[in-house]
Amino acid sequence: TDIQELLLSRIRDVADYPEPGVMFKDITPLLADPAAFTALTDALAEVATNTGATKVVGLEARGFILGAPVAVRAGLGFIPVRKAGKLPGATLAQAYDLEYGSAEIEVHAEDLSADDRILIIDDVLATGGTAEASIRLIRRAGAEVAGLAVLMELGFLGGRARLEPALKGAPLEAV
Ligand code: 5GP
Repeated sequence: TDIQELLLSRIRDVADYPEPGVMFKDITPLLADPAAFTALTDALAEVATNTGATKVVGLEARGFILGAPVAVRAGLGFIPVRKAGKLPGATLAQAYDLEYGSAEIEVHAEDLSADDRILIIDDVLATGGTAEASIRLIRRAGAEVAGLAVLMELGFLGGRARLEPALKGAPLEAV
C-alpha cells in the first residue's frame, strides 16, 4: 500500500552497525517525518483496537517511542518492559539468550492484571528472542497476550517461526 511504501522509504539501512556484517534498520528518519510517524501510529493503533487489547506494552527502547503514542491514540494504558535494573518498583524478570551471553527484561508486576489483554509493540522483529521473552513475562504476570505488532520483520532471521509456539494463535502483525 501507499502507507507501507511511505514507511519503508523512511527506514535507513546502515551497513556494519552495530557490528561488521549487520545491516541495521534505522527508524530515526521515519520518526522525524510527521506524516510517516503519524501513519505508523495510526496503523499500530488499529491493530490494538482490532485485537481487543486493554493495554500496550512497549519494549525498550524503540518500542517505547512507538508504543506510547499508539496507546494514547487507541485510548489504552502504556506499560514499559525494560532492561533489568531500570524499574524502581517490584518487578518480574525474564532472562533470554543472546548470540553471545544472555539478557534480562523486567516489568512492574502490579501494572498487569488477569483482566488485561496486552498488545506488545516493538520496532523491528529480528530473531524474536526479545519478543519471546516479553510474551513469557506477560503471561507469568497473569495477563493475556492479545498480539505482537512491529513496524518491520527481518524475515531471513526466522523470528515469526520461532514465535509461533509462544504466541499460541495470537496475531503477529508487521505494518
Ligand atoms: P531480536 O530479539 O528479535 O533478535 O531483536 C529485536 C530487538 O533488537 C528489538 O528490540 C529491536 O529494536 C532490536 N533490533 C535488532 N535488529 C534491529 C535493526 O536492524 N534495527 C532496529 N531498529 N532494531 C533492531
